Amino acid sequence: MKKKIAVIGSGFSGLSATAYLAKAGNEVHVFEKHEQPGGRARQFSTQQGYVFDMGPSWYWMPDIIESFFADFGYKISDFFELISLNPQFEMIFSQEKISVPESLEELKILFEQIEKGAGLQLEKFMRSAKFKYEVGMQDFVNKPCHNWSEFISPKITKSALRLDLLTNFRTYVAKYFKSEKLRTLMEFPVIFLGASPKNIPALYSLMNYGGYALGTHYPIGGFYQLVLAMKKVAENQGATFYFNKTVESINTQNGKVRSLTINGETYEFDIVIASSDYHHTETLLNKDLRNYSEVYWKSRTFAPSSLIYYLGINQIIPNLKHHTLFFENDLDEHIDCIYGEKKWPEKPLFYVCCPSKTDNAVAPKDKENLFLLMPLAIGINDEELTREKYLMEMLSRIERHTGIADLQSMIEYKRSFCVSDFISDYNAYGGNAYGLANTLGQTAVLKPKIINKRLKNLFYTGQLTVPGPGVPPSILSGKIVANEIIKLKQEGL
Ligand SMILES: Cc1cc2nc3c(=O)[nH]c(=O)nc-3n(C[C@H](O)[C@H](O)[C@H](O)COP(=O)(O)OP(=O)(O)OC[C@H]3O[C@@H](n4cnc5c(N)ncnc54)[C@H](O)[C@@H]3O)c2cc1C
Repeated sequence: MKKKIAVIGSGFSGLSATAYLAKAGNEVHVFEKHEQPGGRARQFSTQQGYVFDMGPSWYWMPDIIESFFADFGYKISDFFELISLNPQFEMIFSQEKISVPESLEELKILFEQIEKGAGLQLEKFMRSAKFKYEVGMQDFVNKPCHNWSEFISPKITKSALRLDLLTNFRTYVAKYFKSEKLRTLMEFPVIFLGASPKNIPALYSLMNYGGYALGTHYPIGGFYQLVLAMKKVAENQGATFYFNKTVESINTQNGKVRSLTINGETYEFDIVIASSDYHHTETLLNKDLRNYSEVYWKSRTFAPSSLIYYLGINQIIPNLKHHTLFFENDLDEHIDCIYGEKKWPEKPLFYVCCPSKTDNAVAPKDKENLFLLMPLAIGINDEELTREKYLMEMLSRIERHTGIADLQSMIEYKRSFCVSDFISDYNAYGGNAYGLANTLGQTAVLKPKIINKRLKNLFYTGQLTVPGPGVPPSILSGKIVANEIIKLKQEGL
Protein backbone atom coordinates (compact mmCIF):
# COMPACT_ATOMS: atom_id res chain seq x y z
CA MET A 1 0.00 0.00 0.00
CA LYS A 2 1.17 3.54 -0.78
CA LYS A 3 2.56 5.29 2.33
CA LYS A 4 2.99 8.98 3.04
CA ILE A 5 6.68 9.31 3.89
CA ALA A 6 8.62 12.33 5.19
CA VAL A 7 12.37 12.62 4.66
CA ILE A 8 14.22 15.10 6.88
CA GLY A 9 17.14 16.62 4.94
CA SER A 10 18.25 16.48 1.32
CA GLY A 11 21.92 15.46 1.51
CA PHE A 12 23.07 12.45 -0.54
CA SER A 13 21.49 9.93 1.85
CA GLY A 14 18.14 11.75 1.90
CA LEU A 15 18.13 12.13 -1.89
CA SER A 16 18.92 8.46 -2.36
CA ALA A 17 16.29 7.17 0.12
CA THR A 18 13.72 9.50 -1.47
CA ALA A 19 14.35 8.28 -5.00
CA TYR A 20 14.11 4.57 -4.08
CA LEU A 21 10.98 4.98 -1.94
CA ALA A 22 9.21 7.13 -4.52
CA LYS A 23 10.07 4.55 -7.18
CA ALA A 24 8.45 1.91 -4.96
CA GLY A 25 5.17 3.84 -5.26
CA ASN A 26 5.17 5.89 -2.05
CA GLU A 27 4.22 9.55 -1.62
CA VAL A 28 7.53 11.07 -0.51
CA HIS A 29 7.96 14.61 0.87
CA VAL A 30 11.44 16.01 1.59
CA PHE A 31 11.92 18.84 4.11
CA GLU A 32 15.23 20.70 3.96
CA LYS A 33 16.25 23.52 6.29
CA HIS A 34 18.39 25.21 3.63
CA GLU A 35 17.23 26.98 0.48
CA GLN A 36 18.80 24.31 -1.75
CA PRO A 37 19.43 20.52 -1.71
CA GLY A 38 22.78 18.80 -1.10
CA GLY A 39 23.47 19.29 2.60
CA ARG A 40 27.23 19.25 3.07
CA ALA A 41 27.57 19.28 -0.74
CA ARG A 42 25.76 22.59 -1.25
CA GLN A 43 27.11 25.16 -3.69
CA PHE A 44 27.18 28.97 -3.71
CA SER A 45 28.01 31.63 -6.28
CA THR A 46 29.53 35.06 -5.66
CA GLN A 47 28.93 38.43 -7.30
CA GLN A 48 32.43 38.26 -8.80
CA GLY A 49 31.47 35.09 -10.72
CA TYR A 50 33.01 32.33 -8.59
CA VAL A 51 31.08 29.10 -7.99
CA PHE A 52 32.10 27.15 -4.87
CA ASP A 53 31.24 23.58 -3.95
CA MET A 54 30.97 23.78 -0.16
CA GLY A 55 32.00 20.22 0.73
CA PRO A 56 33.04 17.14 -1.26
CA SER A 57 35.54 17.47 -4.08
CA TRP A 58 37.01 13.94 -4.40
CA TYR A 59 34.76 11.93 -6.69
CA TRP A 60 35.85 8.35 -5.98
CA MET A 61 34.16 4.94 -6.44
CA PRO A 62 32.44 6.09 -9.64
CA ASP A 63 30.89 2.64 -10.10
CA ILE A 64 28.82 3.01 -6.92
CA ILE A 65 27.52 6.39 -8.05
CA GLU A 66 26.83 5.09 -11.56
CA SER A 67 24.85 2.17 -10.13
CA PHE A 68 22.50 4.59 -8.32
CA PHE A 69 21.54 6.08 -11.70
CA ALA A 70 21.36 2.63 -13.33
CA ASP A 71 18.76 1.59 -10.72
CA PHE A 72 16.45 4.21 -12.28
CA GLY A 73 17.32 3.52 -15.91
CA TYR A 74 19.74 6.44 -16.29
CA LYS A 75 23.44 6.99 -16.93
CA ILE A 76 25.52 9.71 -15.32
CA SER A 77 26.14 11.12 -18.79
CA ASP A 78 22.37 11.84 -19.01
CA PHE A 79 22.99 14.57 -16.42
CA PHE A 80 26.61 15.80 -16.42
CA GLU A 81 30.05 15.32 -17.93
CA LEU A 82 32.47 13.40 -15.74
CA ILE A 83 36.20 14.00 -16.30
CA SER A 84 38.95 11.65 -15.14
CA LEU A 85 41.76 13.80 -13.67
CA ASN A 86 45.39 13.33 -14.71
CA PRO A 87 47.28 13.61 -12.46
CA GLN A 88 44.75 12.47 -9.92
CA PHE A 89 46.43 14.67 -7.32
CA GLU A 90 49.78 15.93 -6.09
CA MET A 91 51.21 15.34 -2.63
CA ILE A 92 53.75 17.85 -1.37
CA PHE A 93 56.42 16.67 1.10
CA SER A 94 59.04 18.85 2.81
CA GLN A 95 61.68 18.23 0.12
CA GLU A 96 59.81 16.85 -2.87
CA LYS A 97 56.42 16.02 -4.31
CA ILE A 98 54.62 13.06 -5.86
CA SER A 99 52.09 13.45 -8.68
CA VAL A 100 49.75 10.48 -8.81
CA PRO A 101 49.06 9.63 -12.46
CA GLU A 102 45.71 8.50 -13.81
CA SER A 103 46.95 5.06 -14.84
CA LEU A 104 47.97 2.38 -12.38
CA GLU A 105 50.73 1.22 -14.75
CA GLU A 106 52.36 4.65 -14.58
CA LEU A 107 51.92 4.71 -10.80
CA LYS A 108 53.79 1.40 -10.59
CA ILE A 109 56.71 2.90 -12.51
CA LEU A 110 56.72 5.89 -10.15
CA PHE A 111 56.70 3.64 -7.07
CA GLU A 112 59.61 1.64 -8.50
CA GLN A 113 61.61 4.86 -9.00
CA ILE A 114 61.09 5.80 -5.35
CA GLU A 115 61.76 2.35 -3.87
CA LYS A 116 63.23 -0.70 -5.55
CA GLY A 117 60.58 -3.45 -5.74
CA ALA A 118 57.74 -1.09 -4.78
CA GLY A 119 56.18 -1.33 -8.27
CA LEU A 120 55.54 -5.02 -7.78
CA GLN A 121 54.43 -4.45 -4.21
CA LEU A 122 51.88 -1.90 -5.46
CA GLU A 123 50.55 -4.47 -7.90
CA LYS A 124 50.12 -6.99 -5.04
CA PHE A 125 48.59 -4.36 -2.76
CA MET A 126 46.07 -3.35 -5.42
CA ARG A 127 45.21 -6.98 -6.26
CA SER A 128 44.28 -7.52 -2.62
CA ALA A 129 42.54 -4.13 -2.43
CA LYS A 130 40.46 -5.04 -5.51
CA PHE A 131 39.38 -8.27 -3.84
CA LYS A 132 38.37 -6.35 -0.69
CA TYR A 133 36.54 -3.76 -2.78
CA GLU A 134 34.54 -6.42 -4.63
CA VAL A 135 33.65 -8.43 -1.51
CA GLY A 136 33.05 -5.23 0.45
CA MET A 137 30.72 -3.73 -2.15
CA GLN A 138 28.81 -6.97 -2.77
CA ASP A 139 28.62 -8.47 0.71
CA PHE A 140 29.30 -5.80 3.33
CA VAL A 141 28.13 -2.30 2.55
CA ASN A 142 24.56 -3.16 1.56
CA LYS A 143 23.60 -4.69 4.90
CA PRO A 144 21.16 -2.98 7.30
CA CYS A 145 23.47 -4.23 10.12
CA HIS A 146 20.82 -5.20 12.65
CA ASN A 147 23.07 -8.03 13.87
CA TRP A 148 26.20 -10.00 12.96
CA SER A 149 24.22 -12.95 11.58
CA GLU A 150 23.79 -10.93 8.35
CA PHE A 151 27.51 -11.49 7.77
CA ILE A 152 27.46 -15.26 8.20
CA SER A 153 27.78 -16.77 4.75
CA PRO A 154 30.12 -19.39 3.29
CA LYS A 155 31.62 -16.72 1.01
CA ILE A 156 32.42 -14.28 3.85
CA THR A 157 33.73 -17.06 6.10
CA LYS A 158 35.95 -18.27 3.29
CA SER A 159 37.34 -14.80 2.59
CA ALA A 160 37.59 -13.62 6.23
CA LEU A 161 41.37 -13.87 6.40
CA ARG A 162 41.93 -12.17 3.06
CA LEU A 163 39.80 -9.21 4.22
CA ASP A 164 42.33 -8.33 6.95
CA LEU A 165 39.64 -7.17 9.34
CA LEU A 166 41.81 -7.41 12.42
CA THR A 167 45.03 -5.82 11.12
CA ASN A 168 45.34 -2.05 11.39
CA PHE A 169 45.87 -0.07 8.24
CA ARG A 170 49.25 1.39 9.26
CA THR A 171 50.79 -2.02 10.00
CA TYR A 172 49.29 -3.40 6.81
CA VAL A 173 50.76 -0.68 4.57
CA ALA A 174 54.17 -1.02 6.27
CA LYS A 175 54.25 -4.69 5.21
CA TYR A 176 54.28 -3.57 1.59
CA PHE A 177 56.38 -0.39 1.52
CA LYS A 178 59.47 0.90 3.37
CA SER A 179 59.59 4.43 1.98
CA GLU A 180 58.01 6.95 4.37
CA LYS A 181 56.60 8.88 1.40
CA LEU A 182 54.98 5.85 -0.20
CA ARG A 183 53.46 4.82 3.11
CA THR A 184 51.97 8.29 3.61
CA LEU A 185 50.64 8.26 0.06
CA MET A 186 48.97 4.89 0.64
CA GLU A 187 47.62 5.92 4.05
CA PHE A 188 46.02 9.10 2.74
CA PRO A 189 42.70 7.59 1.43
CA VAL A 190 41.65 6.23 4.83
CA ILE A 191 41.86 9.71 6.31
CA PHE A 192 38.48 10.13 4.55
CA LEU A 193 37.13 7.57 7.02
CA GLY A 194 37.73 10.01 9.81
CA ALA A 195 40.36 8.33 11.95
CA SER A 196 44.06 7.62 12.22
CA PRO A 197 45.40 4.81 9.97
CA LYS A 198 46.46 3.21 13.28
CA ASN A 199 42.79 2.70 14.18
CA ILE A 200 41.30 1.76 10.81
CA PRO A 201 41.00 -1.92 9.79
CA ALA A 202 43.14 -2.92 6.79
CA LEU A 203 39.89 -3.96 5.06
CA TYR A 204 39.65 -0.31 4.08
CA SER A 205 42.58 -0.62 1.68
CA LEU A 206 39.55 -1.08 -0.58
CA MET A 207 39.56 2.75 -0.57
CA ASN A 208 42.93 2.72 -2.36
CA TYR A 209 41.31 0.66 -5.07
CA GLY A 210 38.15 2.82 -5.19
CA GLY A 211 40.41 5.88 -5.51
CA TYR A 212 43.82 5.26 -7.11
CA ALA A 213 42.76 2.34 -9.35
CA LEU A 214 39.28 3.51 -10.39
CA GLY A 215 40.51 7.09 -10.73
CA THR A 216 39.74 10.55 -9.36
CA HIS A 217 36.91 12.21 -11.25
CA TYR A 218 35.35 15.64 -11.53
CA PRO A 219 31.83 16.58 -12.69
CA ILE A 220 31.98 19.62 -14.96
CA GLY A 221 30.03 22.40 -13.22
CA GLY A 222 31.18 21.09 -9.82
CA PHE A 223 30.28 18.30 -7.43
CA TYR A 224 26.88 19.94 -6.98
CA GLN A 225 25.91 18.56 -10.41
CA LEU A 226 25.59 15.18 -8.71
CA VAL A 227 23.16 16.68 -6.17
CA LEU A 228 21.05 18.23 -8.92
CA ALA A 229 21.04 14.98 -10.91
CA MET A 230 19.91 12.92 -7.91
CA LYS A 231 17.20 15.43 -7.08
CA LYS A 232 15.97 15.21 -10.68
CA VAL A 233 15.90 11.41 -10.49
CA ALA A 234 13.87 11.60 -7.25
CA GLU A 235 11.45 14.14 -8.76
CA ASN A 236 11.04 11.95 -11.82
CA GLN A 237 9.83 9.20 -9.47
CA GLY A 238 7.22 11.62 -8.08
CA ALA A 239 8.92 12.96 -4.91
CA THR A 240 8.27 16.53 -3.72
CA PHE A 241 10.90 18.83 -2.19
CA TYR A 242 10.30 21.71 0.25
CA PHE A 243 13.14 24.15 1.06
CA ASN A 244 13.67 26.55 3.99
CA LYS A 245 11.68 24.01 6.03
CA THR A 246 13.16 23.11 9.41
CA VAL A 247 11.81 20.09 11.25
CA GLU A 248 11.39 21.24 14.85
CA SER A 249 9.95 18.15 16.51
CA ILE A 250 9.03 14.54 15.85
CA ASN A 251 5.64 13.91 17.47
CA THR A 252 4.66 10.46 18.66
CA GLN A 253 1.68 8.49 19.96
CA ASN A 254 1.36 4.84 21.06
CA GLY A 255 4.81 3.70 19.92
CA LYS A 256 4.66 5.40 16.53
CA VAL A 257 5.60 8.70 14.96
CA ARG A 258 2.39 10.52 14.09
CA SER A 259 3.56 13.87 12.75
CA LEU A 260 6.37 16.39 12.29
CA THR A 261 6.31 20.03 13.34
CA ILE A 262 7.88 22.03 10.52
CA ASN A 263 8.26 25.80 10.71
CA GLY A 264 5.57 25.84 13.41
CA GLU A 265 2.99 23.77 11.46
CA THR A 266 2.18 20.11 12.12
CA TYR A 267 1.88 17.53 9.30
CA GLU A 268 0.99 13.83 9.62
CA PHE A 269 3.00 11.00 8.03
CA ASP A 270 2.97 7.20 8.02
CA ILE A 271 6.77 6.87 8.04
CA VAL A 272 9.63 9.29 8.81
CA ILE A 273 13.24 8.96 7.65
CA ALA A 274 15.79 11.29 9.20
CA SER A 275 18.85 11.99 7.10
CA SER A 276 19.72 14.92 9.36
CA ASP A 277 22.69 14.26 11.70
CA TYR A 278 21.71 11.37 13.99
CA HIS A 279 22.33 13.10 17.33
CA HIS A 280 20.34 16.16 16.24
CA THR A 281 17.44 14.00 15.02
CA GLU A 282 17.23 12.38 18.43
CA THR A 283 16.97 15.79 20.12
CA LEU A 284 13.71 16.26 18.17
CA LEU A 285 12.25 13.34 20.21
CA ASN A 286 11.37 12.98 23.88
CA LYS A 287 14.39 11.67 25.81
CA ASP A 288 12.78 8.30 26.61
CA LEU A 289 12.27 7.59 22.90
CA ARG A 290 15.86 8.18 21.79
CA ASN A 291 18.08 5.27 20.71
CA TYR A 292 21.19 6.69 22.39
CA SER A 293 22.05 8.79 25.45
CA GLU A 294 24.36 11.81 25.61
CA VAL A 295 26.89 9.54 27.35
CA TYR A 296 26.87 7.30 24.28
CA TRP A 297 27.59 10.18 21.89
CA LYS A 298 30.38 11.48 24.15
CA SER A 299 32.03 8.07 24.02
CA ARG A 300 32.07 7.92 20.18
CA THR A 301 35.04 8.73 17.96
CA PHE A 302 33.80 11.38 15.59
CA ALA A 303 35.44 12.13 12.27
CA PRO A 304 37.13 15.56 12.31
CA SER A 305 35.66 18.96 11.78
CA SER A 306 37.48 21.27 9.35
CA LEU A 307 38.62 24.80 8.74
CA ILE A 308 37.62 25.66 5.18
CA TYR A 309 38.36 28.77 3.12
CA TYR A 310 36.61 29.55 -0.17
CA LEU A 311 38.85 32.02 -2.03
CA GLY A 312 38.45 33.88 -5.31
CA ILE A 313 41.93 34.71 -6.67
CA ASN A 314 42.22 37.42 -9.30
CA GLN A 315 45.13 35.77 -11.16
CA ILE A 316 46.16 32.39 -12.49
CA ILE A 317 48.25 30.45 -9.97
CA PRO A 318 51.01 28.51 -11.75
CA ASN A 319 52.23 25.04 -10.69
CA LEU A 320 49.05 24.10 -8.86
CA LYS A 321 47.07 20.97 -9.70
CA HIS A 322 43.33 20.39 -9.33
CA HIS A 323 43.95 18.52 -6.04
CA THR A 324 47.04 19.20 -3.90
CA LEU A 325 47.83 17.78 -0.46
CA PHE A 326 50.27 19.81 1.60
CA PHE A 327 51.84 17.05 3.71
CA GLU A 328 55.19 18.69 4.55
CA ASN A 329 54.67 18.02 8.27
CA ASP A 330 54.20 14.87 10.32
CA LEU A 331 50.81 13.19 9.78
CA ASP A 332 50.67 11.69 13.29
CA GLU A 333 51.33 15.04 15.00
CA HIS A 334 48.35 16.57 13.22
CA ILE A 335 46.18 13.50 13.90
CA ASP A 336 47.08 13.65 17.59
CA CYS A 337 45.80 17.24 17.76
CA ILE A 338 42.48 15.99 16.36
CA TYR A 339 41.92 12.86 18.46
CA GLY A 340 44.34 13.19 21.36
CA GLU A 341 44.93 16.72 22.60
CA LYS A 342 41.94 18.23 20.72
CA LYS A 343 43.70 21.50 19.91
CA TRP A 344 44.70 23.53 16.85
CA PRO A 345 47.76 21.89 15.24
CA GLU A 346 51.13 23.63 15.46
CA LYS A 347 52.34 22.10 12.20
CA PRO A 348 49.17 21.52 10.18
CA LEU A 349 48.61 19.48 7.05
CA PHE A 350 46.01 20.79 4.63
CA TYR A 351 44.40 20.23 1.26
CA VAL A 352 43.82 22.61 -1.65
CA CYS A 353 41.31 22.11 -4.44
CA CYS A 354 41.60 24.35 -7.49
CA PRO A 355 38.70 23.22 -9.74
CA SER A 356 39.24 26.18 -12.08
CA LYS A 357 42.26 24.22 -13.40
CA THR A 358 39.71 21.82 -14.98
CA ASP A 359 36.51 23.82 -15.25
CA ASN A 360 36.04 27.30 -16.76
CA ALA A 361 32.58 27.59 -15.23
CA VAL A 362 33.73 27.92 -11.60
CA ALA A 363 35.85 31.11 -11.88
CA PRO A 364 35.95 34.12 -14.18
CA LYS A 365 38.49 34.00 -17.04
CA ASP A 366 42.16 34.17 -15.89
CA LYS A 367 41.16 33.80 -12.24
CA GLU A 368 41.24 30.85 -9.85
CA ASN A 369 38.77 29.20 -7.50
CA LEU A 370 40.52 27.91 -4.37
CA PHE A 371 39.09 25.65 -1.67
CA LEU A 372 41.39 25.18 1.34
CA LEU A 373 40.64 22.52 3.96
CA MET A 374 42.44 21.74 7.20
CA PRO A 375 41.05 18.89 9.39
CA LEU A 376 40.40 19.91 13.02
CA ALA A 377 39.22 18.41 16.30
CA ILE A 378 35.48 18.66 16.87
CA GLY A 379 34.18 21.06 19.48
CA ILE A 380 37.16 23.46 19.54
CA ASN A 381 37.00 27.25 19.60
CA ASP A 382 37.11 28.64 16.06
CA GLU A 383 37.14 32.41 16.47
CA GLU A 384 37.90 34.57 13.44
CA LEU A 385 41.44 35.52 14.53
CA THR A 386 42.49 31.89 14.80
CA ARG A 387 40.96 31.06 11.41
CA GLU A 388 42.91 33.96 9.84
CA LYS A 389 46.17 32.88 11.44
CA TYR A 390 45.83 29.47 9.77
CA LEU A 391 44.82 31.05 6.48
CA MET A 392 48.13 32.95 6.50
CA GLU A 393 50.03 29.70 7.20
CA MET A 394 48.26 27.94 4.32
CA LEU A 395 48.79 30.86 1.92
CA SER A 396 52.50 31.02 2.65
CA ARG A 397 52.90 27.31 1.98
CA ILE A 398 50.98 27.62 -1.31
CA GLU A 399 53.27 30.56 -2.21
CA ARG A 400 56.37 28.47 -1.45
CA HIS A 401 55.10 25.59 -3.57
CA THR A 402 53.85 27.60 -6.55
CA GLY A 403 56.53 30.32 -6.53
CA ILE A 404 53.87 33.02 -6.47
CA ALA A 405 54.40 36.07 -4.25
CA ASP A 406 51.82 37.84 -2.07
CA LEU A 407 48.85 35.58 -2.73
CA GLN A 408 46.95 37.44 -0.03
CA SER A 409 46.82 40.59 -2.17
CA MET A 410 45.18 38.59 -4.99
CA ILE A 411 42.18 37.50 -2.92
CA GLU A 412 39.05 39.17 -4.27
CA TYR A 413 36.57 36.89 -2.51
CA LYS A 414 36.97 35.18 0.86
CA ARG A 415 34.65 33.14 3.09
CA SER A 416 35.57 30.81 5.92
CA PHE A 417 33.61 27.88 7.35
CA CYS A 418 34.56 26.08 10.54
CA VAL A 419 33.38 24.15 13.62
CA SER A 420 30.61 26.56 14.67
CA ASP A 421 29.30 26.78 11.08
CA PHE A 422 28.98 22.99 10.90
CA ILE A 423 26.93 23.18 14.09
CA SER A 424 24.67 26.03 12.97
CA ASP A 425 24.24 24.92 9.34
CA TYR A 426 23.97 21.13 9.71
CA ASN A 427 23.15 20.61 13.42
CA ALA A 428 26.36 18.59 13.49
CA TYR A 429 27.45 17.12 16.83
CA GLY A 430 30.59 19.00 17.91
CA GLY A 431 30.73 20.50 14.41
CA ASN A 432 31.80 17.20 12.81
CA ALA A 433 32.32 17.37 9.07
CA TYR A 434 32.20 13.68 8.14
CA GLY A 435 30.08 11.91 10.77
CA LEU A 436 31.44 9.00 12.78
CA ALA A 437 34.88 7.53 12.19
CA ASN A 438 35.01 4.03 10.68
CA THR A 439 37.11 2.53 13.47
CA LEU A 440 36.75 -1.22 14.10
CA GLY A 441 34.57 -0.52 17.17
CA GLN A 442 32.27 1.69 15.08
CA THR A 443 31.91 -0.47 11.99
CA ALA A 444 28.83 -2.29 10.66
CA VAL A 445 26.62 -3.59 13.50
CA LEU A 446 28.48 -1.32 15.93
CA LYS A 447 27.28 1.86 14.17
CA PRO A 448 24.12 3.69 15.32
CA LYS A 449 21.09 1.66 14.20
CA ILE A 450 18.92 2.56 11.22
CA ILE A 451 15.62 1.89 13.06
CA ASN A 452 14.36 3.52 16.23
CA LYS A 453 14.06 0.86 18.92
CA ARG A 454 10.78 2.20 20.31
CA LEU A 455 9.11 3.83 17.31
CA LYS A 456 8.66 1.30 14.53
CA ASN A 457 8.06 3.89 11.79
CA LEU A 458 11.13 6.10 12.47
CA PHE A 459 14.28 5.40 10.44
CA TYR A 460 17.75 6.98 10.26
CA THR A 461 20.08 7.30 7.29
CA GLY A 462 23.27 9.20 6.43
CA GLN A 463 26.94 9.31 7.20
CA LEU A 464 26.45 8.66 10.95
CA THR A 465 24.90 5.27 10.38
CA VAL A 466 25.77 2.39 8.03
CA PRO A 467 27.90 2.08 5.99
CA GLY A 468 29.71 5.33 7.01
CA PRO A 469 31.09 8.67 5.85
CA GLY A 470 31.67 9.77 2.25
CA VAL A 471 29.47 10.43 -0.77
CA PRO A 472 29.21 6.84 -2.12
CA PRO A 473 28.50 5.38 1.37
CA SER A 474 25.84 8.05 2.01
CA ILE A 475 24.13 7.17 -1.28
CA LEU A 476 24.24 3.50 -0.24
CA SER A 477 22.88 4.41 3.20
CA GLY A 478 19.75 5.88 1.60
CA LYS A 479 19.28 2.72 -0.47
CA ILE A 480 19.71 0.47 2.61
CA VAL A 481 17.04 2.31 4.58
CA ALA A 482 14.67 2.39 1.59
CA ASN A 483 15.06 -1.37 1.08
CA GLU A 484 14.41 -1.94 4.77
CA ILE A 485 11.18 0.05 4.63
CA ILE A 486 10.06 -1.71 1.45
CA LYS A 487 10.70 -5.07 3.16
CA LEU A 488 8.93 -4.08 6.41
CA LYS A 489 5.97 -2.70 4.44
CA GLN A 490 5.52 -6.13 2.87
CA GLU A 491 5.48 -7.50 6.44
CA GLY A 492 2.74 -5.00 7.38
CA LEU A 493 4.60 -1.90 8.70
C1 LIG B 1 34.11 19.79 3.80
C2 LIG B 1 33.75 18.40 3.42
C3 LIG B 1 34.46 17.75 2.43
C4 LIG B 1 34.13 16.45 2.05
N1 LIG B 1 34.83 15.87 1.05
C5 LIG B 1 34.41 14.67 0.57
C6 LIG B 1 34.97 14.17 -0.63
O1 LIG B 1 35.83 14.81 -1.23
N2 LIG B 1 34.51 12.98 -1.10
C7 LIG B 1 33.53 12.26 -0.44
O2 LIG B 1 33.13 11.17 -0.92
N3 LIG B 1 32.97 12.73 0.69
C8 LIG B 1 33.37 13.93 1.20
N4 LIG B 1 32.78 14.46 2.30
C9 LIG B 1 31.76 13.68 3.01
C10 LIG B 1 30.40 13.77 2.33
O3 LIG B 1 30.17 15.07 1.89
C11 LIG B 1 29.33 13.35 3.33
O4 LIG B 1 29.63 12.06 3.82
C12 LIG B 1 27.92 13.34 2.74
O5 LIG B 1 27.68 14.48 1.97
C13 LIG B 1 26.92 13.23 3.88
O6 LIG B 1 25.61 13.18 3.39
P1 LIG B 1 24.39 13.01 4.40
O7 LIG B 1 23.18 12.85 3.58
O8 LIG B 1 24.69 11.95 5.40
O9 LIG B 1 24.37 14.36 5.28
P2 LIG B 1 24.17 15.90 4.92
O10 LIG B 1 24.78 16.23 3.62
O11 LIG B 1 24.66 16.68 6.09
O12 LIG B 1 22.60 16.07 4.80
C14 LIG B 1 21.76 16.26 5.92
C15 LIG B 1 20.75 17.32 5.58
O13 LIG B 1 19.82 17.47 6.66
C16 LIG B 1 19.49 18.84 6.76
N5 LIG B 1 18.93 19.07 8.09
C17 LIG B 1 19.58 18.99 9.28
N6 LIG B 1 18.71 19.24 10.29
C18 LIG B 1 17.51 19.48 9.72
C19 LIG B 1 16.22 19.79 10.25
N7 LIG B 1 15.99 19.87 11.56
N8 LIG B 1 15.19 20.01 9.38
C20 LIG B 1 15.40 19.91 8.04
N9 LIG B 1 16.60 19.62 7.50
C21 LIG B 1 17.64 19.39 8.33
C22 LIG B 1 20.79 19.55 6.50
O14 LIG B 1 20.59 20.89 6.13
C23 LIG B 1 21.35 18.70 5.36
O15 LIG B 1 20.94 19.18 4.12
C24 LIG B 1 33.07 15.76 2.70
C25 LIG B 1 32.35 16.41 3.71
C26 LIG B 1 32.68 17.72 4.06
C27 LIG B 1 31.88 18.41 5.11
